[in-house]
Amino acid sequence: MNLDQTRFPAEQLVSFIESALTAADTRKEDAAEIARHLVDANLTGHDSHGIGMLPAYIAHIQGGQVNITATDITRSDKGVIIQRDADSGWGKPAARRLIETAIEKCQQNGLAAATLGNVHHLGRIGAYGEQAAAAGLVSMHFVSVADHAPLVAPFRGSDARFGTNPVCISFPATNKRPSFLLDMATSKIALGKVRVAANKGEKVPPGSLINEHGMETEDPTGMSGFEMKGALLPLGRHKGYGLGFACELLAGVLSGAGTLQPGNPRKGGIQNRMLSILIAPDAFGDTDWMDEEVDAMSDYALASPPMDWDSPVLYPGDPERAWRGKRERDGVPLDEVTVEQLNNAANKAGSSERL
Ligand code: NAD
Repeated sequence: MNLDQTRFPAEQLVSFIESALTAADTRKEDAAEIARHLVDANLTGHDSHGIGMLPAYIAHIQGGQVNITATDITRSDKGVIIQRDADSGWGKPAARRLIETAIEKCQQNGLAAATLGNVHHLGRIGAYGEQAAAAGLVSMHFVSVADHAPLVAPFRGSDARFGTNPVCISFPATNKRPSFLLDMATSKIALGKVRVAANKGEKVPPGSLINEHGMETEDPTGMSGFEMKGALLPLGRHKGYGLGFACELLAGVLSGAGTLQPGNPRKGGIQNRMLSILIAPDAFGDTDWMDEEVDAMSDYALASPPMDWDSPVLYPGDPERAWRGKRERDGVPLDEVTVEQLNNAANKAGSSERL
């Protein structure tokens, strides 16, 4: 398979996605926001959640797995708590609106807890952590995945029963340091990394995958899509399993939209559920002291002598900032296979724009 890469300016990719989504009847403002979010995932180094999602999104429009005319339904709005249902609408705009409401509530009350159910793919969860951090707030996001077959095995299990259920924790910037952003799947490696390894004919790291017989394997062949034969393994054995399970409870149950258990419908799309908890630091004390403490702890952690001098200790969120700097300057690399898939998807959507 030819994986030669060409670099594309971010703005070209944004325009390409926007045209394809609007050609497939997505509202213009939603298309613009989704396009920006996907390309932002590429810019921050998360290609698994970038423009490569477009063919699936177009297929979901055409298969009716996303409601392109949806409006949010507020199920509950009590004090600092908000429970919202996106009516199977687009993820990024619905989640941005939810976090906007949660920010307002948190700024008034010091705390807010918000859930979002029945929402199409939320993409890179770090975007919502960044939104809260930009407003000076701490945030935690627990996300579950629904509407398609499971991908991740429980610890000691031999087949898939969970999604890659991401967790994100953000802490606002200090005068010295940009925001802390931990944004991670609870599987040892992301599904997109299995796809890339399979395309390149490479192995995956030990302890990442099991095959259809429940045996550990480093060979990703045939496990590159949502129809994968085996399963991803949770990160950190029972700990990642427990964290992924917690996402089902916190996001799937508290949102009211349901978990990945097979009694709930699966229409072959990609849905998420999310619980977001926002905290105003000033409700907990002196923020000048907090900033000094964040800086002191970060300086201490990052001063640990690296085991490998070419790989220094990093602050969570720094890898994304480094990728952004590089890719905004040099463009987003896409291999020929992906470009062909994207052009086919645009064609199916009725857009004449090509990469
Ligand atoms: P990853 O492993 O690339 O990064 C995880 C986190 O670790 C990031 O916060 C990053 O800043 C930090 N990090 C990376 N290297 C570091 C280092 N050397 N030192 C310190 N910190 C470091 O992320 P992932 O688990 O592959 O997840 C990729 C993306 O996929 C995330 O944006 C996630 O939200 C998204 N995701 C979304 C869904 C969904 O259903 N919407 C599901 C799974 C994952």
